[in-house]
Amino acid sequence: MPGTDRPGRIVVVGASLAGLRAAEALRDNGFTGELTLVGEEDRPPYDRPPLSKAVLLGRVRAADVTLPARRAVDARWRLGVRAEGVDLTHRTVLLAGGERLPYDRLLIATGTRARPWPHPGEAALHGVLALRTAADAALLSGLLDAGPRRVLVIGAGFTGSEIASACRGRGLDVTVVERGPAPLVGALGGTLGAFAAALQRAHGVDLRCGVTVTSLQGRDGRLVGAELSDGGRIEADVAVVCLGAVRNTEWLDGSGLAAGPRGLACDAGCRAFDMYGIVTDDVFVAGDVARFPHPLFEYQLLSLEHWGNAVAQAEVAAHNMISEGPRRRPHLAVPAFWSSQFGLNIKSVGVPTFSDRVVIAQGSPAERRLVAVYGYRGRVTAAVSVNRAKSLEYYERLIESAAPFPPDPATTDRTVAPTPVPSDVPDPRQLSHGPTVALTGHLPDRRGLALVRRES
Ligand SMILES: Cc1cc2nc3c(=O)[nH]c(=O)nc-3n(C[C@H](O)[C@H](O)[C@H](O)COP(=O)(O)OP(=O)(O)OC[C@H]3O[C@@H](n4cnc5c(N)ncnc54)[C@H](O)[C@@H]3O)c2cc1C
Repeated sequence: MPGTDRPGRIVVVGASLAGLRAAEALRDNGFTGELTLVGEEDRPPYDRPPLSKAVLLGRVRAADVTLPARRAVDARWRLGVRAEGVDLTHRTVLLAGGERLPYDRLLIATGTRARPWPHPGEAALHGVLALRTAADAALLSGLLDAGPRRVLVIGAGFTGSEIASACRGRGLDVTVVERGPAPLVGALGGTLGAFAAALQRAHGVDLRCGVTVTSLQGRDGRLVGAELSDGGRIEADVAVVCLGAVRNTEWLDGSGLAAGPRGLACDAGCRAFDMYGIVTDDVFVAGDVARFPHPLFEYQLLSLEHWGNAVAQAEVAAHNMISEGPRRRPHLAVPAFWSSQFGLNIKSVGVPTFSDRVVIAQGSPAERRLVAVYGYRGRVTAAVSVNRAKSLEYYERLIESAAPFPPDPATTDRTVAPTPVPSDVPDPRQLSHGPTVALTGHLPDRRGLALVRRES
């Protein structure tokens, strides 16, 4: 039955995947009130995954990457407009230019942006760019069309690895510089990292691991090369900065919401926390900007950058925004994402970084067809397939049911049970950000918090 318990005005800030899917779900669920979507980008919502794949391979133009609408949303679209603040007391969103948009419920879906190259002068060189938006992809495609002598990719996470793959697919020389011991290590750990390193080298990538780029060099305003921490030097006329994502939360500074470098924290029903950890009832959050607790992962707050999570969480947020207490739902989807690179299809379910052991349960790196299963304290927490996606449903059920790790050999295609090894994922106890709040006051009724934002 459609949930129209709570009519009124809804404002969605962030008009991309999560924002659009939430708007559609609101209407699907029977919301008939006033709906406004505010988006900083000046084009309607589009799909980002093809930007580092089909667009760079020249198969689709960046201008043609769209998100198919599931239904008409009958909304007021405020595109090309940045939200600059929220006033929780008066329930208004402050827009650039000074306008205040009143709301009864607010959805925050402002996602992430690419972490920029830290030296502004070097970042401004022609040929240096990051990839997050369709405009970035159009620019990078143009640079690749011009046939650069060499492309330098800084950072070998998923985006960097996909860009390197597209460059090799176009026959371009590419150097990948990665600070960690192997590509994809931060997301998938040591075993698949070693596999990814061998894969990149087999495809002709000049892969340098355990090294950082110390400076980018230009001549007449154009990139000509880079210096590396091991004393090496690369000549390149394009450098793609793939240093990960930054959550778009700064606009919430001073709002009183629990927003920081890891995202905006919320409960399992997508309701945002205020900075004291008290749940709000009229501010919701979904997509890459959200940090949410998941019972399967010890209720740790997860910050994901997965297309499927943005959709599922937006749908739950929309349902809960217009439903009263007992009819609300938790966001309990098992995290999942995919990537395609170097002719392989990589899919993941669960949270590979939430692990201490990994085992190749099916196939092998030599076959380039495998399933790696991850475990934490004796239970299955994730699985990653390479060209073997069909098996993932089975492992998803093992994750959902907290099945013992390693999985029963009867479920593998082996006669001898494979041996688990340490998963070598980054230690979750190593904090990568400084504190974002400090306690103030001493008397119980004066106890408070102040935001501390440190430049990273
Ligand atoms: C190159 C690339 C490849 C990817 N490939 C994959 C893949 O293969 N598989 C996968 O699972 N996921 C992939 N992803 C991730 C996936 O695209 C994201 O998970 C998804 O886009 C998240 O959607 P979102 O709506 O939460 O955030 P976003 O898509 O980041 O959208 C947030 C929107 O909010 C806007 N905004 C930000 N701040 C403000 C403000 N203050 N006021 C108004 N508007 C604001 C932004 O401009 C943006 O349009 C990829 C992402 C990129 C960039």
